[in-house]
Amino acid sequence: MDIAIVGGGSAAVGLLDALAAPDGVTTAGGETGTITVFEPSPHLWRGRPYGPDLDTVLVNSPPALMSIRSGDFGHYAAWLGERGAEHVDELLGRPLVPRALYGDYLVHTAEKAIAALGERGWLVRVVPAGVDGVARPGARLVLRTNGGEEHEATHVALCVGGGTPPDLYGLAGHPGFTGDPYPMAGTLDRIPAEADVAIIGSGLTAVDVVVSLAAHGHRGRITLLSRSGVLPYVWQRPHDLRPRHVTADRVAVLHQARGFVTLDDLTGLLRAELADAAEDFDELMAELRDTETEDPVRRLRRQLDAVDDPRIGRRVLQQTAHTVGPYAWRLLPASDRAWLRSHRRTATSVASPMVPVNAAVLMRLLDSGQLDITSGVHAVEPVNGGFRVRAGDSERTADAVVNAVNPSAQAVPLAARQLVRSLAGTGLATLHPSGGLIPADPRVHVVGDLTGGGSYITSSIPGIAAQASSTARALGTP
Ligand SMILES: Cc1cc2nc3c(=O)[nH]c(=O)nc-3n(C[C@H](O)[C@H](O)[C@H](O)COP(=O)(O)OP(=O)(O)OC[C@H]3O[C@@H](n4cnc5c(N)ncnc54)[C@H](O)[C@@H]3O)c2cc1C
Repeated sequence: MDIAIVGGGSAAVGLLDALAAPDGVTTAGGETGTITVFEPSPHLWRGRPYGPDLDTVLVNSPPALMSIRSGDFGHYAAWLGERGAEHVDELLGRPLVPRALYGDYLVHTAEKAIAALGERGWLVRVVPAGVDGVARPGARLVLRTNGGEEHEATHVALCVGGGTPPDLYGLAGHPGFTGDPYPMAGTLDRIPAEADVAIIGSGLTAVDVVVSLAAHGHRGRITLLSRSGVLPYVWQRPHDLRPRHVTADRVAVLHQARGFVTLDDLTGLLRAELADAAEDFDELMAELRDTETEDPVRRLRRQLDAVDDPRIGRRVLQQTAHTVGPYAWRLLPASDRAWLRSHRRTATSVASPMVPVNAAVLMRLLDSGQLDITSGVHAVEPVNGGFRVRAGDSERTADAVVNAVNPSAQAVPLAARQLVRSLAGTGLATLHPSGGLIPADPRVHVVGDLTGGGSYITSSIPGIAAQASSTARALGTP
């Protein structure tokens, strides 16, 4: 067996770790083989988010949700050990480390997995190149790198990650415009401290930009520009939460019994979860319903005050959106998926909250008047060496614009466009009508955001780890 893993970020690390597990890849008769990882970036195993960057760019989730080993919530926390003590978010009561430090965990995990696989007779190697195409001239697959080399494989796992912020207003190339703020160590210091900065977007990337500007001593005005003005929710202190109703098993039982699952079914599971905890389901629904209309500053203040609130409602949604959500999404009727799409802003801000330490910075800047939020934005144009922003009937200017628009979940990364075209062209995979790729050959696997037919919520580490684990199982099944 010769496995080719295309892309060497978190998904590849999760896959290697799962293959190296004692019950990982074993083919009939104990046969081993080779595993070749193709990764062109110098920051092997770190992917787009976890390379070198400013210390203010933190992981977005508590340690239990950053484990790259599926089913082992303590794996990352155990690696972090004492190092976590200097990064504790006092409000959350858990360490939130700089993303580059989390990258060290990925490097460590990959190296341990490679050593374990080596001991079991596998030859694992890394080719520092991108893959542009896959052909199937005979029984085997042939990968072509962008350097023109060819590599044979029996199986291919695509771990190429997601897209970069789309340039909604066509501002690329204009001085003062930052098209992709990451890594922030190389982009934000180009912005003068007195500049009036407009950030397009109000999601987690926008929060990272605000917090990093503030840490750099930025003195000018900062404005979050968005169509909806919705900010991410704020994480609450983690509970040792084990949902009993909103689980993949319960969804599977419903599916088997009736052949379909509806949003009403999922709501019923949530209602049962809250009833067990003697919590008010209608109150939670009212909070969700108001997300797109309530003043975002008022909600931010309320949620910062409620970090310790013992109620489990939001915690259940945050956790299960990434664990049960991707599975349940595919079973829903098209009408329910369309309804959820129409509430995309609410679902995304609940499922991908900001960490309290960042929420506190935003709150301070909003209170001081240095930060504001402009909703209803419909145009951002370059004028006289700066920018003009149109929102509703009003206009304002900015000296610098930072793009923090979230790419769509199944966006094809630029570096994988040719590869995706090639897979679709050879019939090894098909393009899903709503984005992403569906393998059309049992030798082809996809891990991460490129997986076709997924929801609009981008993969988080637990989702990637779960997918990596099931891909390892599929590869290990002769
Ligand atoms: C800025 C940011 C911050 C995030 N923070 C968090 C967080 O705190 N917590 C959380 O749970 N989730 C977070 N996520 C979501 C998720 O954890 C990450 O997106 C995760 O890194 C995805 O892993 P991946 O391996 O699928 O993709 P990536 O990490 O992007 O890795 C993909 C790799 O594939 C390579 N590649 C692409 N095309 C090719 C090709 N043709 N040939 C060879 N190699 C190729 C790329 O160079 C890259 O290294 C974040 C996402 C982003 C974008």
